[in-house]
Amino acid sequence: MSDPNCIFCKIIAGEIPCWKIYEDDHVLAYLDIGPLSEGHCLIIPKKHYVTIDQMPTDEAAACMAVVPKLSKAVIAATGAAGWNVLQNNHQVAGQAVDHVHIHIIPRNDGDGLGFRWPAGELDAETAKSLQSKIAEQLG
Ligand code: AMP
Ligand code: ZN
Repeated sequence: MSDPNCIFCKIIAGEIPCWKIYEDDHVLAYLDIGPLSEGHCLIIPKKHYVTIDQMPTDEAAACMAVVPKLSKAVIAATGAAGWNVLQNNHQVAGQAVDHVHIHIIPRNDGDGLGFRWPAGELDAETAKSLQSKIAEQLG
């Protein structure tokens, strides 16, 4: 449940330092070393999973359970106006570290981070097909 080549596993093992802000039996949270904004931090499971779909439900739930209280603390501490919760899976989606992590990224007016959301339009035929294919996968 640990990968000797994984930088986040090394943080969990105490082999690499971090600016820890929260810890429990299943989860560690610390400040991102390359912050996009003041207070940018990461929540990680203590066990090594590359992407979120690999996680057992209870492990994922333990990580998500930290999101509300840590968001509240980070936003109170930084005075940010809002925040994004981000979780990248695979390189194509921007994942650079292959150990599941949830970003909390404080946001402020004029922070220059931007947000690209080029919305398309969902037609009924596509929706119906996707709905049944996903339902089939869920079983
Ligand atoms: P992602 O692109 O979603 O994989 O994000 C990886 C994040 O991990 C980046 O925001 C990095 O700045 C951050 N990061 C990488 N190494 C460390 C480290 N040693 N301590 C804290 N954050 C790190
Ligand atoms: Zn790892």
